[in-house]
Amino acid sequence: MLIIRTKAELRAMTQDWRRAGESIGVVPTMGALHAGHLSLVDRACAENDRVIVTLFVNPKQFNNPEDLAKYPRTEDSDAEKLTPYGADILYVPDGAQMYPEGFATTVSVTGVSEGLCGGARPGHFDGVATVVTKLFLQTDADRAYFGEKDYQQLQVVTRLAEDLDLKTEIVGCPTIREEDGLAMSSRNLRLAKGPREIAPVIAQVLDDAARVISRGGQVAQALDNARAALLSAGFDTIDYLELRSDPDLKLMTRADRPGRLFLAAWLDGVRLIDNVPVAGLASVPTRKDHPLEPA
Ligand code: AMP
Repeated sequence: MLIIRTKAELRAMTQDWRRAGESIGVVPTMGALHAGHLSLVDRACAENDRVIVTLFVNPKQFNNPEDLAKYPRTEDSDAEKLTPYGADILYVPDGAQMYPEGFATTVSVTGVSEGLCGGARPGHFDGVATVVTKLFLQTDADRAYFGEKDYQQLQVVTRLAEDLDLKTEIVGCPTIREEDGLAMSSRNLRLAKGPREIAPVIAQVLDDAARVISRGGQVAQALDNARAALLSAGFDTIDYLELRSDPDLKLMTRADRPGRLFLAAWLDGVRLIDNVPVAGLASVPTRKDHPLEPA
């Protein structure tokens, strides 16, 4: 695997591949790679002749300078982890490659970017949309791989690729979890031992709420119970816990179509996010259909 740091060198490689008629997959990351990222790389390698993994901690998508400063930077071990997978290039541009002096363009997606992380982190999805548009163009990718772990991001990127007529097809991949259910994240490294043991409560609480809702339980009640369970487990604050439609991410108060539960919560000064699917009920049942469920 080659490590490339400039757009010009990257372009020379992709032009050679194109002349040979080869397809290109890209996996955008901010590094501190774990099995979640590697599952995307594995899939990209299976579906494309050539694969580029990008590593760039994008300052434009951090609304909190402290969060940006604390973000783990582990390029050497990232390169080592990628070695067995068969990616061709690890592309590691610096800030000047991505945002040279005078850079003045923002890609901004409305609709799916509003609320959830878009509400809690102003400017976050403009930063994401701008950097991924640049990465798609720089890598000349046919396919780009994104995790469902960041489900709103996946929908924002899917929307922008369609709206801007980009040739890059967006491929969503399932969330990879630790054995105890915690969704893998580079941020998990920042949890001390005690909070790390509390963190899997997120997955348990989301699964429980999704089960209750998909059996016809009241959405508001299920969400209240989930919030109470998180706070009593030791979470400090909950940025949001909401049921949204899939894939357009409209707020739902009844499970009358397929949706997802979305959560962002703070534990030990670390912001954790997760989401799970909720099967839609063909018609929301009345209490008569489920006499044992609370009203
Ligand atoms: P990041 O480095 O956090 O920007 O993530 C890079 C890509 O990896 C994004 O598409 C994420 O959605 C994806 N990703 C991160 N964690 C996971 C996970 N646990 N399972 C699947 N994909 C993930």
